[in-house]
Amino acid sequence: MIENLVDRFGRIHNNLRISVTDRCNLRCTYCMPEDVTFVDRGELLTFEEIAQFVRVAAPLGVNKIRLTGGEPLMRKGLDNLVRMLTPIPGITDIGLTTNGLLLADQAESLFAAGLRRLNVSLDTLDPGRFRELTRRDGVEKVIAGLLAAKAVGFGPIKVNAVAIRGFIEHDAVPLAQFCRKYGFELRFIEYMPIGAESWEREKVVYAHELLEWLERDVAPLSPSPDYDPRAPAMDFDYADGKGRVGIIASLSRPFCRSCNRIRITADGKLRNCLFALNETDVKPMLRRPIPDTVALRNALIDSVAEKWEGHEINTAKFVKPLRTMHTIGG
Ligand code: SAM
Ligand code: SF4
Repeated sequence: MIENLVDRFGRIHNNLRISVTDRCNLRCTYCMPEDVTFVDRGELLTFEEIAQFVRVAAPLGVNKIRLTGGEPLMRKGLDNLVRMLTPIPGITDIGLTTNGLLLADQAESLFAAGLRRLNVSLDTLDPGRFRELTRRDGVEKVIAGLLAAKAVGFGPIKVNAVAIRGFIEHDAVPLAQFCRKYGFELRFIEYMPIGAESWEREKVVYAHELLEWLERDVAPLSPSPDYDPRAPAMDFDYADGKGRVGIIASLSRPFCRSCNRIRITADGKLRNCLFALNETDVKPMLRRPIPDTVALRNALIDSVAEKWEGHEINTAKFVKPLRTMHTIGG
């Protein structure tokens, strides 16, 4: 019998986000500072340790996994990790969130390893704004990565764009048109106070504004028939049948009440919320000659049991975590 990871608020946790590295080949201003000290490579969980953690989490009801980072494709041989995770009993869904820079090279091997679901982050198609936002060049590589992934057979492919005022006004419509053309699902993410630069509420572009622009300049939208009010993204279909748009409205429509996520950082810290202020170091439990599966299991159960009600971004009680996004795993 599956013993679920249920918290005090009745939320069942089946969704594990695994960060495989804190390193990144971009420096998105909203996510990480330019100068960072990365975790020593020896401190990163090995693939075997990650798989061991998943083997403990799966019987507790975890069936969905997302690989993230940092930039996960910077971790050598990521396809091998996918190959190790896919056969774990209970794991039914593995996805990857990437900035896409290295995707063209790796799409084939990842697909062959069994990966199907991809989220590629792309905030703009404009090379100048890409450089401003990411402090690096490479928009053409991301686009090439997306097209390579499509050609290989990935699906669904989602394009994640952070909605920041001063940028997204220019990019929302071109991104929507690009995604409709190639059959990618566009997902806007409301700008969250978790990155490196000082976040200001005025820079957040809310869901309703994005929807207005798309309805005005792209095509009418209506809530998707399979719209799940508990899911993080609000999904809308274009009335002309050409695609779907999602909005992750962490500020204007927080989804904490139905949150099903737990996270493990690249250096083995278990977190029960993106915004958590405490975490549990599970690496020592994994890094013993024989992993302490009882301690790992208890750590998971206790972490979920202690989970708070929500992130409080919209209240004076909110406290920004010390870690920036790239060290947690978005
Ligand atoms: N490097 C990969 C990528 O960019 O897709 C994976 C890690 S990244 C931290 C995961 C997601 O978090 C990306 O879609 C990114 O846009 C998003 N993100 C980072 N900082 C954010 C912020 N301050 N607010 C909202 N989304 C953010
Ligand atoms: Fe790197 Fe992704 Fe963060 Fe950008 S959002 S700096 S690509 S980890």
